Amino acid sequence: LSGDNEHLSSTDREVEKALRPLSFDDFTGQQKILDNIQIFVMAAKKRNEPLDHVLLHGPPGLGKTTLSHIIANELESNIKITSGPVLDKPSDLAGLLTNLEEGDVLFIDEIHRLNSVVEEYLYSAMEDFRIDIMLDSGPNARSVQISLNPFTLVGATTRSGLLTAPLRARFGINARLEYYDAQLLTDIVTRSAGILGVPLDEVAAFEIARRSRGTPRIANTLLRRTRDFADIKGQGKITLDIAKMALNALDVDENGLDEMDNRILFTIIDKFKGGPVGISTIATACGEEGETIEEVYEPFLIQEGYLKRTSRGRVATELAYKHLDIRPHFGGQF
Ligand code: ADP
Repeated sequence: LSGDNEHLSSTDREVEKALRPLSFDDFTGQQKILDNIQIFVMAAKKRNEPLDHVLLHGPPGLGKTTLSHIIANELESNIKITSGPVLDKPSDLAGLLTNLEEGDVLFIDEIHRLNSVVEEYLYSAMEDFRIDIMLDSGPNARSVQISLNPFTLVGATTRSGLLTAPLRARFGINARLEYYDAQLLTDIVTRSAGILGVPLDEVAAFEIARRSRGTPRIANTLLRRTRDFADIKGQGKITLDIAKMALNALDVDENGLDEMDNRILFTIIDKFKGGPVGISTIATACGEEGETIEEVYEPFLIQEGYLKRTSRGRVATELAYKHLDIRPHFGGQF
């Protein structure tokens, strides 16, 4: 339930695709970003120019991939999809770039994970729509310049802090996606239930929504799992009781924190006296990657007020103690 989709089964992946909004009108929330991008898309179309390059950042599952598809749809262009770690060599990138048609969208997910050689090739491609390719090696080596069709790069990252300054500077449009509030997620859950043809009570939709860590992908996943409970333990309809039963069975607690959220908070309090403690130490103690904690768990725990970031490390807040029902020890933070 961490919000990353690497562990989805192929059926889940297909369902996820079916639930993906296809137009600006379908996309719920992130209103300011949407309003702006809509203007930029309309202006680009009016002037018959490619849209400026777009950088989307924010935690996983908030709609970066969805939005890049929508941008391509609204531009009436094709979209080519790749990701930072997949682009191993400059020739991988060159192959993609030279196949782009005028106005196409190239989506690079996890763009902070591009290696530096590939990244440098991207600079001239983004700026001047050309790349220099080395032919041969040794004494015959020479470089040829290839011009590209004007295109729009949409980069997505969960860690904008890891982007190099020169890369960041080449994006004309920069948008940070925020966690969704429970009302917006209720709308998303209701829309998804409609597409899946699952009957769902409004209070149940809200219950799923408020326990989804502010993340549409998690809301949709919880909806699908709740539907399983409704089919097996109920009469097919998702009622509040069914939703609660499913969410409890899935270890999503009353405040929407999942097992790993709780493990992180408990570890900081129990093993490190509430902190401050460094991310890598927390990661080792919790058996999770430091990067995943920083990308997926920590931003939500900080936003919800369970965790604080200080110069000396992470500190559990009073709310975290209350949540876990642990009394702060004498001489602790409070
Ligand atoms: P990211 O690329 O940020 O990790 P995705 O774009 O893959 O996130 O979104 C994950 C899923 O969440 C999508 O399949 C889509 O169904 C759903 N989703 C994301 N944002 C929205 C939204 N604003 N409205 C409705 N559904 C959304």
